[in-house]
Amino acid sequence: MTATAKPPLTIRLCEPRGFCAGVDRAIQIVVLALKKYGAPVYVRHEIVHNRFVVQGLRERGAVFIEELHEIPAEHHDRPVVFSAHGVPKSVPEDAQARNLFYLDATCPLVSKVHKQAMRHQRQGRHVVLVGHAGHPEVIGTMGQLPEGAVSLIETEQDALSFVPPQPGDMGFVTQTTLSVSDTAGIIARLQERFPAIQAPSAESICYATTNRQEAVKETAAGTDLFLIVGAPNSSNSMRLVEVARRAGAKQAMLVQRASEIPWDMMIGGEVVGLSAGASAPQIIVDEIVDAFNQRFAVSVDLAVTAVEDENFPVLSVLRDMPLTAD
Ligand code: SF4
Repeated sequence: MTATAKPPLTIRLCEPRGFCAGVDRAIQIVVLALKKYGAPVYVRHEIVHNRFVVQGLRERGAVFIEELHEIPAEHHDRPVVFSAHGVPKSVPEDAQARNLFYLDATCPLVSKVHKQAMRHQRQGRHVVLVGHAGHPEVIGTMGQLPEGAVSLIETEQDALSFVPPQPGDMGFVTQTTLSVSDTAGIIARLQERFPAIQAPSAESICYATTNRQEAVKETAAGTDLFLIVGAPNSSNSMRLVEVARRAGAKQAMLVQRASEIPWDMMIGGEVVGLSAGASAPQIIVDEIVDAFNQRFAVSVDLAVTAVEDENFPVLSVLRDMPLTAD
């Protein structure tokens, strides 16, 4: 009996993709805290927006909570880690009031946006934050300043209808994980209406967001299907799906595991684009490539558009711990 030959299929694999330096650091902080202080270690909010990562840390002894009051009194001596997205100032204040020992895993690039928002305010400017309402990073950035000091703009339409409290003196910052092209449009509208509005001293959209969007943009034309590994609550992953669609992929979708791939859409001969959001681990990308290999004769084209070497050191209190995650 002769085995039936598998139909051919091409995967265009984006590079860079997946974990960024801020996500890597946040996960290391939880792992090292578990090693140094033992379980349980509390983590406020999903440390990064990926259920596979969260489940892996839960199995090691991390306990995920949404608010600090969920930590039982008998565990007030346990560490609590704040997620990579950043937190409003009220959260460390609340931790201090409860005598909790906290480790802040806010990505240094999110902290930089916080500092830029505070600088605008120190210089007497009303702060305009471009971002998505309800996202934890937006809640954290707005919470750096007193209520009313920040106005949130989500769309170009918002930028056109915005009535600022002090039109002459304004500065903007943005969420780190936005669409580069949408944000440019929103900022252009703001600058047309308010020519004196001050930009932050450095770009708020982070290197990882920019590089992952650029890689998908370069790769999407001519693909029959573009798969982005990531979670629906991951802003940067959702933006990658939009970028793939706009850049010419016939279809683009988010997948969290290989089991979600729409196999009935593929008969062989297709070109499939593949990338992963900044919170999606490489192990899921490998799982997806393996799943394709089981069904098709796959050729993988690596599409390299940038080389990343960013590395953010963990908190000094954890630096004496070995970095191997066993
Ligand atoms: Fe930091 Fe950017 Fe990664 Fe967010 S996506 S954790 S801002 S490097």
